[in-house]
Amino acid sequence: MPFYDLRCPVCNKEFNIYASMADKAEKRISCSECGSHDLETVFKSAPAYIKSRKNSDCPSRHICGEGCRHAG
Ligand SMILES: [Zn+2]
Repeated sequence: MPFYDLRCPVCNKEFNIYASMADKAEKRISCSECGSHDLETVFKSAPAYIKSRKNSDCPSRHICGEGCRHAG
């Protein structure tokens, strides 16, 4: 199962979750903050999100690109 990076438009909480495609498609994933099921997918190219991470210095980051998950 893949990880999804999701944002809740109700409370603006961003989180990632390990869920099946069916869970996401059928909106069985709920916001950890307010419980809303109406979640948006966050695309990791968003610079603000990357910069907010403490450990963004993956040694392979030039290969991984902006979506690098090795750090943090
Ligand atoms: Zn929420």
